[in-house]
Amino acid sequence: MKRILTGVKPTGTLTLGNYIGVLKNLKHLEKEGEMFIFIADLHALTLPIESEVLSKNSIDITCFYLAAGLDPTKSHIFLQSDVHEHAELAIILQNYLYMGELSRMTQFKDQSKKLKDNAIGLGIFTYPVLMASDILLYDVDTVPVGEDQVQHVELCRDVANRFNKRYGDTFIVPKAQVNEVGKRIMSLSDPTKKMSKSDPKGDIFLLDDEKTIRKKIMSAVTDLGSEIKYDVENKPGVSNLLTIYAALSDISIEEAEEHFKGKGYGDFKKEVSDVVISELIPFQERYKKALESKEYETALKEGAKEARKVASKTLERVKNKIGLINLND
Ligand code: ATP
Ligand code: MG
Repeated sequence: MKRILTGVKPTGTLTLGNYIGVLKNLKHLEKEGEMFIFIADLHALTLPIESEVLSKNSIDITCFYLAAGLDPTKSHIFLQSDVHEHAELAIILQNYLYMGELSRMTQFKDQSKKLKDNAIGLGIFTYPVLMASDILLYDVDTVPVGEDQVQHVELCRDVANRFNKRYGDTFIVPKAQVNEVGKRIMSLSDPTKKMSKSDPKGDIFLLDDEKTIRKKIMSAVTDLGSEIKYDVENKPGVSNLLTIYAALSDISIEEAEEHFKGKGYGDFKKEVSDVVISELIPFQERYKKALESKEYETALKEGAKEARKVASKTLERVKNKIGLINLND
């Protein structure tokens, strides 16, 4: 059976970008294969974060996954730090990736620009090494991601191929899977920038209430002119709202354009708000239920058990190939 892996960093409350880019489709993917879904808590340490915030976010994200309709008896939801094989494989794989290729990664360049020189942790630089380990441990075929993570998945493919070439077939070489509509939801206040949970300007958060969502969308930056047309270059604000509308209504961008033909920005924004609200309010109810019932605890325990079964086998295979001796069993 096909295997699928996906993860989110518990760096903040998830945004509509995370929802449209990944979360929304997980329920459908569950029908296509066995899912391994992890909360990338080790990755969250790459930027400064308070301990209480990290643990709270990790629980929240687990509940978001459950709210997205995943069945924890079928899909394995787990914490990255609960499966020590992730860190161990990263220590091995770091020797098969080069400083040059890591320093060319857009995320590293963007994030390190925001920090003062002496505060750039090594973890930001080696982020793609851990990410490659996350993926390769599970012998997965596809990795559903937003567009911004495609570069890291490509690097993961490179290291898998490099390793396989040297030691013989060891890793399955995975593919990134990006949804055409909604692969990059932009900030509502600056539609030339990606909506990101760790840079909360212009975000819609998955726990925003109805009034807040409406206010944020009604005051979203739009563009000159009055036509509702998809044109990222000249109308990035309108294009972003059209994308949100199309993705949540499960229609194409062209169909969304057609729907708004002849309407004004006011009506347009009102309809976008309605569709976001009708998607997020029931989602929030399911999230609250998962949190209050502590359903997340069992999900995480069981998920880690299942994940470890697969991850430990892969790690053993790697160790054997490279000559690390195991005399313990
Ligand atoms: P951070 O600011 O901490 O990097 P983030 O919002 O970028 O947070 P990640 O945890 O890095 O979220 O990514 C989780 C998943 O969501 C990834 O697959 C990523 O590609 C996807 N994603 C993130 N932002 C967007 C967006 N604006 N549009 C579509 N997909 C997104
Ligand atoms: Mg990100």
